[in-house]
Amino acid sequence: MAFKLDKSAMAFAEAKRYIPGGVNSPVRSFRGVGGTPPFIAKALGSRLYDIDGNEYIDYVGSWGPMILGHAHPEVTGELAEAINKGTSYGAPTLLETELARLVTEAFPSMELVRMVNSGTEATMSALRLARAYTKRNKIVKFAGCYHGHHDSLLVKAGSGATTLGVPDSPGVPDSIAGHTITVEYNDINALAAVFERYGEDIAAVIIEPVPGNMGLILPQPEYLAKVSSLTESYGTLLIFDEVMSGFRVAYGGAQELYGITPDLTCLGKVIGGGLPVGAYGGAKDIMELVAPAGPVYQAGTLSGNPLAMTAGIATLRLISEVPDFYEKIGAKTAALCAGIQAQAQAFGFSFQFHQVGSMFCTFFTDQPVYDYISAKRSDVAAFNIFFHAMLEQGVYLGPSQFEAAFMSDAHTGADIDATIAASGKAFAKVAEFYRKNKH
Ligand SMILES: *Cc1c(COP(=O)(O)O)cnc(C)c1O
Repeated sequence: MAFKLDKSAMAFAEAKRYIPGGVNSPVRSFRGVGGTPPFIAKALGSRLYDIDGNEYIDYVGSWGPMILGHAHPEVTGELAEAINKGTSYGAPTLLETELARLVTEAFPSMELVRMVNSGTEATMSALRLARAYTKRNKIVKFAGCYHGHHDSLLVKAGSGATTLGVPDSPGVPDSIAGHTITVEYNDINALAAVFERYGEDIAAVIIEPVPGNMGLILPQPEYLAKVSSLTESYGTLLIFDEVMSGFRVAYGGAQELYGITPDLTCLGKVIGGGLPVGAYGGAKDIMELVAPAGPVYQAGTLSGNPLAMTAGIATLRLISEVPDFYEKIGAKTAALCAGIQAQAQAFGFSFQFHQVGSMFCTFFTDQPVYDYISAKRSDVAAFNIFFHAMLEQGVYLGPSQFEAAFMSDAHTGADIDATIAASGKAFAKVAEFYRKNKH
């Protein structure tokens, strides 16, 4: 049966009448790869089902949260029980303490933790706190790292490595972007140069320790340790944005994996188990500046929402009940990546295969990728051919070369074999594309 998205195409047109671009978050619109985004009807385990009747093996997992797979029966069971007790109180619950305790046990650097509703809120609040604590204004971020959509972090590099940032979106004032300095990831000399020039004014360095928003990039050996010692020597706070990597690359996130202790950590995605949750935390003396313990204001009508806390607690408990959860999911992901790489090599492609635990990515370039500039050398046209060929065979990848993919505990050996086989056919189309267009 031919692959069709007729109903989704109609639904997309209808959605555009009421929603900007038809979606509530831009990447869902498939603008990067072209074509129609499937409208999803339901999800179960490793699978997504669209309104056209297509079934997909899902490697997006709602962009990271669904590490147990979709609609895990114990998570949905506990949610069903919770929903009958009311959906929001605006008053404290035992659930909030329970999730905070689980988070602080997993992340020893987080002695105190505040729940919010999204990763964006977590990084926004962590920056305010870092500025209040250090009484400084400047922030350093890394090109290609994404921390949410608030003004201070929607900033791109100015011209030259050590210049102040410029807004990455209309609506962000120059006066705010000018407090943000952007440097290339994995380039410790560039960061050191920024500290030499502005060090005494830098409140915080915010970093995705394992960047997953420009494709998946790995930190070079000792890079994170050097970042940490630079920040420490200037009295600057180091903020690990582990919204994606937390409870994903290891239970205790990248800071456990690489043995680094940041001052503040931002979480999201997995800790919400598929419901809207973010969190930020750190050492007690810093976190006690947050209201009402201290003067730094931050609040939320739905923060610590009982349904969101229930899904998060159930997810973390189920992960910790499986012995060697992260070893197993990492081995499964390695097997998938090795299989796809072998298919690529059969066509003579020497693309870049990156993997950390259950996150993975293929850059369509034969050059090493270690920062945003090198990631941008990827052949996006070739990726887009691959992407659509996979989609038509029932494999749902992130609709952009610059997204990581995510394995879940629900993916089976049969899912992985089917994905590898599909990749062979997809690479054949890429080879055909190169024959027609390049030579
Ligand atoms: C997804 C993500 C965010 C933003 O989280 P939202 O919940 O979408 O606001 C921030 N930082 C990183 C590293 C992310 O991957």
